[in-house]
Parts: sequence; C-alpha cells; structure tokens
Amino acid sequence: MSEVVVVGGGIIGSLIAYRLCQAGLEVTLLEAGKAGQATQASAGMLAPYAEGLGGELLEWAREGLECYPGLARELEAACGVRVPVVLSGVWSLERPLLQGWHTLRDLEPRPGGYLDPLRLLAAVQKAFVSLGGTVRAEEAQRLEPGWVHTLTQRIAARQIVIASGAWSGRFGLGVRPLKGEALLLAAPAPPGPVFAGAGYALPRGRRVYLGATRREGWQPGVEAEGLRWLHRYRDAHFPHLHGAPVLQSRWGYRPAGPLTVRRLEPGILAATGHGRNGILLAPATARRVTAMVLESWKARR
Ligand SMILES: Cc1cc2nc3c(=O)[nH]c(=O)nc-3n(C[C@H](O)[C@H](O)[C@H](O)COP(=O)(O)OP(=O)(O)OC[C@H]3O[C@@H](n4cnc5c(N)ncnc54)[C@H](O)[C@@H]3O)c2cc1C
Repeated sequence: MSEVVVVGGGIIGSLIAYRLCQAGLEVTLLEAGKAGQATQASAGMLAPYAEGLGGELLEWAREGLECYPGLARELEAACGVRVPVVLSGVWSLERPLLQGWHTLRDLEPRPGGYLDPLRLLAAVQKAFVSLGGTVRAEEAQRLEPGWVHTLTQRIAARQIVIASGAWSGRFGLGVRPLKGEALLLAAPAPPGPVFAGAGYALPRGRRVYLGATRREGWQPGVEAEGLRWLHRYRDAHFPHLHGAPVLQSRWGYRPAGPLTVRRLEPGILAATGHGRNGILLAPATARRVTAMVLESWKARR
C-alpha cells in the first residue's frame, strides 16, 4: 500500500509528491501523459502583481515568489538540475511598446521574475525519485477512499491527492479547460516579463516567449485562429517583433475554475484550479497540502 497516491504529474502534483516524500511518506505519483499538460506550455512568470490577484490568492502568490530562489537551490542540491530563477522585475505597460525593449529602462518594474517551467518540472520529478518516490505512467479512472482504480488494477492508498489539472472535472470538481497558445520567437529577449493588453512577452533563454490565447474547451493543438490572435497581438503591442521567425508553438489547458485546495472527504484531497498562476502558486499549494496530509496522519496514529 502507498501511503499517498498523487493523481497528476504536472507542477502541482509533482511538487506535492516531492514534499510528502521529503516528509518521510511513501508516495506514488500517477501520470497519465495527457496532451495539453498546462505546465509544459506555461510561460513560467512569477508575477503576483501583474495578474490582478487579490486576497488570499495574492498572499499565496507572494509566498510562491519568496520560496522559489530557495526551492531552486534545494532542488539543485537534491538532484543536480539547475533551475535559474530570474528576479528581473515585471513590467506592465498601458501603451504598446513601439520602440523596442530599450525603452523599458525609463519604467519601474514591479517585484517578480520568471523561470523555465520544463526545467522546474524535470528537477522536481528527479528530486522526488531520488528520495525514493515512485512514478507510474497510468491514468486514474475512478477514486474511492482507500483506492485508486486504473484500467488494469486498483492501487491501495491511505490518502489520495487529486492534482489532475484541467482534467479534474472527471472527479466531480468544478474545473474546466482554458486553452492557452503561445509562440517562441527568434528575437532578442526583453529584460523580464512585459505585460501589455491581453498578453505578454518574456525571455526564454535568449529568445522571446509570446503569449497567450485564452480559449474555452477541449480542442487539441495550436489552431489557426490562435495563431492569428498571436500575430495580431504581437503587431499591436510589440511591433518591433514583427517578422521574427517562429521557432516553436506551444499549447496547454489551464485548469480554470475555483482554486480548490482542500480535503473533499476522508482520505481524498484536491489541489486543482490554479488557472493562469499555477507555477507561481505551486509552492504555497504544496506546503498546505503537505500540512493537511501530515495532520491526518498524526491523527490516525
Ligand atoms: C500558455 C500558458 C501560459 C501560462 N503561464 C503561466 C505563468 O506565466 N505563470 C504561472 O504561474 N502559471 C502559468 N500558467 C498556468 C500554469 O501553467 C498552470 O496553472 C499549472 O501548470 C497547472 O499545473 P497542474 O499540475 O495543476 O496541471 P497540469 O500541468 O495540466 O498537470 C496535470 C497533469 O495531470 C495528468 N492527469 C490528468 N488526468 C489524470 C488521471 N486521471 N490520472 C493520472 N494523471 C492525470 C495530466 O497528464 C497532466 O500531466 C500558464 C498556462 C498556460 C497554458
């Protein structure tokens, strides 16, 4: 029997699994390998003040921003994977940036920065495995207290954590997919994330990550309409990027809906609904879920 089975290996499930393993529990991470995982398409901005967050969400976002430099150091020591966390500041523009990045010099950024979510996910999963955690490439079909059912078997688990992102609706949670499409452009990178209008640009290595669309529903892939939106957006807000070669397009389903980080019933918790800010909110979510699991653990003993 696993002490905990975490359903979903995006950033939320993976960081929770790592923290629980660190706390000494035997943890299995189930990952179905769905196309459209949000984490792999994410821009990776750590921008608590540019996203209009308030109340408790803003508190969690600030906590995330504060945690990342230490978390990156910890992961590098644990598994050797470096995750650069760049606290460049974040710019929010009211007007299009007509002259190029150098004009940002005259504007004051707000606290924040960015990281590469793919590196982060790789580091967290590697650190989890190095602590003795188990990753299984399987899909949870049905859950009941004490059991996770897959197509081929049922896995016993004292605690189950649902962290299946936009797919969490199948377990009765009010989460829906909000597709985001983005482009990697071969052009000099800005000094940090720059928000303008309904989108943003930020560095990805020495290139520019430009995003992102917001499209309701399940519709796999980058669509022609999404590409048109991105090109129009680029020309309207960052015209100096016009003509920059497109190196890659990315897409993923954000888990939209109410942020749900709580116990659902004895033996089953949920950590989903992180919408547009799941990378930023992951450390605070993992901390709270770990505390909830450990609390019920102590109560049983
Ligand atoms: C284009 C784009 C840009 C973004 N930019 C930012 C940003 O700049 N900053 C920020 O903080 N956030 C950003 N986000 C949001 C962030 O990426 C998400 O909130 C976060 O990645 C959600 O993580 P998750 O683990 O909940 O979901 P996911 O990363 O989608 O992972 C869910 C996982 O669950 C698995 N799964 C599903 N069902 C099952 C099942 N039944 N059994 C087993 N496994 C299952 C899937 O295969 C998937 O791997 C962005 C998102 C997008 C799409």
